[in-house]
Amino acid sequence: MTAPATGRRCRHAFEAASVHANGDVVCSIIDGRGEYVLGNVHQSSLHDILRGPRAEELRRLVVSTDDAYCRAVGKTCALKTLPAPPGEVVHTRLRFLAIEPTTTCDLRCLSCPIRDIAGDTSWRDAYADGGMAFAAWDITRRAKQTLADGVQRVLPATWLRPVPERSRAEALLLRGRMPAGRRGTLPLDVVCRVMDEAGPQVERLDFFNYGEPFLYKPLVPALRHARQALPRAVIAISTDGQHVRPETEAALVDERLVDCLVFSVDGVDEDTYQRYRIGGTFARAWAHLSRAAARAAGTPVRVVWQYVVFRWNDDDRHLDRAMAMAAELGVPIWFDFAHTWGRSERAPDDLRRVAFNLRPFTALPGEPRQQGW
Ligand code: SF4
Repeated sequence: MTAPATGRRCRHAFEAASVHANGDVVCSIIDGRGEYVLGNVHQSSLHDILRGPRAEELRRLVVSTDDAYCRAVGKTCALKTLPAPPGEVVHTRLRFLAIEPTTTCDLRCLSCPIRDIAGDTSWRDAYADGGMAFAAWDITRRAKQTLADGVQRVLPATWLRPVPERSRAEALLLRGRMPAGRRGTLPLDVVCRVMDEAGPQVERLDFFNYGEPFLYKPLVPALRHARQALPRAVIAISTDGQHVRPETEAALVDERLVDCLVFSVDGVDEDTYQRYRIGGTFARAWAHLSRAAARAAGTPVRVVWQYVVFRWNDDDRHLDRAMAMAAELGVPIWFDFAHTWGRSERAPDDLRRVAFNLRPFTALPGEPRQQGW
């Protein structure tokens, strides 16, 4: 399609697809709620969904605003960073595929949507899990969403416009609770069919989104199929590291079923780790990361330590200690600065010295991400 003269666009609406564990197809991880669903793989082929009118409309919506606001989801998008020059011809070949095999997760990380998707935490858990500041934020958020749902129930249907037609204020104020039916697990045959339909030209497969991929029982056969169906794809998995069993890890590394295995371990000890990763332990995540790093040493499989930076683990002592531990283990470390509740308040210039360890395409606090990722 030809983009009109606007400021910027994302790449995901044009070149990517993200399949949720309930089968819904959305643009990217930004639409974790399933606000703008293109179709569902239980009902249609991925090919038909990405060629359908919803997908075309999504691309029009993205380029209809010249800032980072995306009308499809009714909020600003950190991935809308690519310049969209007048007359640009944007190809819509599927290059990047994300599959969320399951929303099942062992952890209830503080500001992760899994808390809403799983539906088993409430405002009552907020204080115990995150203290007074988190409870204040979480209760306010939940109250506003419940109020928005109530308003939408009583307003006449003719007054309620779809999200893309709402003003920005309306979209914000009327965003309710996580849609019912967001959680699920994709059957193996559906996962395999989606990979076949995606086609061999796919350049990257992220076999994760929300939920813990190592809790997906048919993980190994799914990845074996991915290797055959998507021969050119770089395959990546991101895990919290709590449930990486030796036999699964052996299959992934020895059969080279993944190219990149990312362990998200956000701290250097139990205090810094358990502040956010509710239900996990640093000791277990670190033990599994260490074992996987040893297993993958000398193979093409890249094991990476991802460290999401919050205000309780962003001290120079923490960051220096993490870099030293990563060097000792022989793995790269990626710092990824959180944008949600608990985000680091340090100035980017104070953090510039760790910029070479940033997760690719991400940025220091307050700075834009790179190249539409
Ligand atoms: S701008 Fe963001 S939210 Fe909108 S379609 Fe692109 S990736 Fe999705």
